[in-house]
Amino acid sequence: MNKISILGSTGSIGTQTIDVAKHLGLEVVALSANSNAELLIKQYYDVKPKYIGVTDKSAAQQVKSALSGEKVTIIDGEDSAKTIASLEEPDTVVNAIIGFAGLVPTLSAIDCGKKIALANKETLVSAGRLVMQKAREKGVEIIPIDSEHCALHQCLRSCKHDEVERLIITASGGPFFQYSKEQLKNVTKEQALKHPNWSMGKGITIYSSTLVNKGLEMIEAMHHFEFPMEKIDVIINRESIIHSMVEMVDSSVMAQLGASDMRLCIQYALTYPERVPGVSKKLDLTQVGKLTFFDVDHETFPSIKLAKRAVKYGDIGTCVYNASNEECVNLFLQDKIKYTDIFEIMEKCTEHFKAGNTDSPCIDDIIAADKEAKKYCRECIN
Ligand code: NDP
Ligand code: MG
Repeated sequence: MNKISILGSTGSIGTQTIDVAKHLGLEVVALSANSNAELLIKQYYDVKPKYIGVTDKSAAQQVKSALSGEKVTIIDGEDSAKTIASLEEPDTVVNAIIGFAGLVPTLSAIDCGKKIALANKETLVSAGRLVMQKAREKGVEIIPIDSEHCALHQCLRSCKHDEVERLIITASGGPFFQYSKEQLKNVTKEQALKHPNWSMGKGITIYSSTLVNKGLEMIEAMHHFEFPMEKIDVIINRESIIHSMVEMVDSSVMAQLGASDMRLCIQYALTYPERVPGVSKKLDLTQVGKLTFFDVDHETFPSIKLAKRAVKYGDIGTCVYNASNEECVNLFLQDKIKYTDIFEIMEKCTEHFKAGNTDSPCIDDIIAADKEAKKYCRECIN
């Protein structure tokens, strides 16, 4: 494998993917983003892709004029990421788009038989059954980039499915670790945007702080590795050194450790099943000193309880869980709701749509549920 395309190239994972691709000597055939024309233009001169996709039309125009003399095709509009995902040349599609917008491009990459390095967890939370089934049918490999799933993927390589008792996803606990419900009410956007261990895009930084990210990751793991939700737990490792663990039926536990550096996960996904020297720095456990573990406070942070309830409400339930999270994070970032309103609105939304449960929704059902749930969240504040 030596040719890749990067969807969401201007984001936190996207820019780190460019670093890793350069380190590995991969050819970046295509880039795509929503509206960050300035960075796309810089990235063009950095990696010289043959194609650039830009969702926003006026940003696309900006990219077109800046690169008018260059040998590059610019694809614009709503379907641009989907088109980039189905280009013939790349062997692997890295999906680092944030949010539900990543789902359709993942499906089209599967349709075209591409290997997928998947950071966009919303793909599996919104339509996990559908996506994994299609991937199986097409013989497509999906390698996770999310650090916990990258860790689980590595641990699971050493055992059989029926030897596993439980998947243990680790959490940092976020910036509001050990806060009381009362303290959480007055949390500001600035506080929520300061993650203790990871530097990430704005959206995921907020949903990490609420621990909804862990709910999303449990659902992602459920689909990716085919374990029921009852076999997936979350534990806090404050230092974010253990990225996740697998407990075997004989009580042995395998863990994957590493520095908090997403480039390691990106490289793993791009080189799997091989391993090569990495860009990521070595882990020095004597510098870390100690590792500390805690239970999640499910009363103050109801996010995981809510994720379990969403799973009981079926595929539409998890799609709604994701949609309500996305919309609530946007509303919070726009100062339209308070921090703790995120939990309240998500719960209301999950309950409101539970009757819409269908056993095996098609992609149109899922797109409609995402839209409806987001609309419902906005209506909750009027
Ligand atoms: P960012 O917000 O930093 O970047 C998102 C990227 O997606 C940008 O390139 C953005 O373009 C693009 N994008 C947004 N909307 C659209 C759209 N409608 N069509 C096409 N492109 C779009 O996100 P992150 O890199 O932090 O996260 C990406 C994904 O990876 C998320 O699903 C997240 O959960 C997951 N992830 C991230 C981790 C991290 O460390 N950041 C860790 C683990 C998982 P533009 O810049 O033009 O807006
Ligand atoms: Mg993660």
